[in-house]
Amino acid sequence: MKPFMDKDFLLSTETAKHLYHDYAENQPIIDYHCHLNPREIYEDRQFENMTQVWLGGDHYKWRLMRSAGVEEKCITGDASDREKFQKWAETIGLAIGNPLYHWSHLELRKYFGYEGILNGDTAEEVWQLCNEKLKELSARKLVERSGVKALCTTDDPADSLEWHAKIAADKSFSVKVLPSFRPDKALGIEKSDYLDYLRRLGRIDSFDDLKKRLVDRLDFFCSQGCRVSDHGMEAVPFAPASDEAVETVFQRRLNGQMPTPPEEKQFKTALLLHLGRAYAKRGLVMQLHFGVIRDNARRVFRALGPDAGIDSIGDAPSVKELAAFLNALDETGELPKTILYSLNPNDNAALVTVMGSFQSGEAVGKLQHGSAWWFNDHKRGMLDQLTTLSADGYLAGFVGMLTDSRSFLSYARHEYFRRILCELLGSWVENGEYPNNEKALRRIVEGICYKNAEKYFNI
Ligand SMILES: [Zn+2]
Repeated sequence: MKPFMDKDFLLSTETAKHLYHDYAENQPIIDYHCHLNPREIYEDRQFENMTQVWLGGDHYKWRLMRSAGVEEKCITGDASDREKFQKWAETIGLAIGNPLYHWSHLELRKYFGYEGILNGDTAEEVWQLCNEKLKELSARKLVERSGVKALCTTDDPADSLEWHAKIAADKSFSVKVLPSFRPDKALGIEKSDYLDYLRRLGRIDSFDDLKKRLVDRLDFFCSQGCRVSDHGMEAVPFAPASDEAVETVFQRRLNGQMPTPPEEKQFKTALLLHLGRAYAKRGLVMQLHFGVIRDNARRVFRALGPDAGIDSIGDAPSVKELAAFLNALDETGELPKTILYSLNPNDNAALVTVMGSFQSGEAVGKLQHGSAWWFNDHKRGMLDQLTTLSADGYLAGFVGMLTDSRSFLSYARHEYFRRILCELLGSWVENGEYPNNEKALRRIVEGICYKNAEKYFNI
């Protein structure tokens, strides 16, 4: 029997161990998509205790606790932090096969030096030890200690980016903290607070005004180091319409009239195409996140708001519309580098083959299949993403892992990914499916862990 999560955790062959320990383990990290708060980085936030760090806003953990029958009072309610930690420890202690089990123990080892096992019996010992260590840890120290060279936060076009500017001016912190352009609210014409949002962007009297204003903001973001944009949606829309038709829909919305679903789709298609062209012109990467259904449990949503652990995988993405959308940009040579992420793993093979249709000599892997994400961010999901990309695309050009997280401890997930990657590549070599070519293997591993992202995002 292998020891529990020792230095060769997830690595079963000599080749896998060699690739991980000699080439992957010590590569720096470019976290090209995350939700860390730039203000907390600038102010170098500290945490009082492990409940704040682990359970403060982590809806992955909230879901697991609810599934284990923990009452809401001990998850998001008014129980004490120590009580909540106890319930968490009892929950995770039995969460066999769940990635949170591995992530939590990787975090305990990496940042707190705790080599034991967390469960209801050890909760007190872990609580005492980790809370003591937290006094020496802070947002910046956690990021630096993780080997992060650059990270891209997720920001609204109306954001002033003042914290990014302050971090950039602070020479005592060497990690690049770059903004990402995420204009979801500008596309959300069907939302009841859309007009309030438009006012945040300034005076907008027409669809043309909106397009111009967003591109002005994009240029400001670029001046602050932005390399990548991001869009979250249920499905990538494609319903082309004339400029006049879209302007009419927009004017009606300015006057308080809601669009019909087909009009909403036309508006979103037009704006997304406009932004796609603007990204291409500036050499930016466009990320498209889709296949999600948000806020399923309305009862919980009314109590806690969004990001409360009540979202799921959706079945909506239309591959045909996605392909038509990409083609509309490609036709005029205005398709930016693009990363596709569907939350539905059943879409993986279709996405990789759509990507293959639009690849070109402009970049290695100009179109990328995003790293296994959210509900797929586990061993099976990562293996599925990696093997589909290798079978139908070009794994060696993959830009690799990102955290997509709000937690400063989540960099342990890069270790998890790297171990799974090296185990997979090692198994192919050991099985005679790929030669034991040191030079090529090193290039593939270092590329996927770090170097491909550095080049792709031009960081
Ligand atoms: Zn995200």
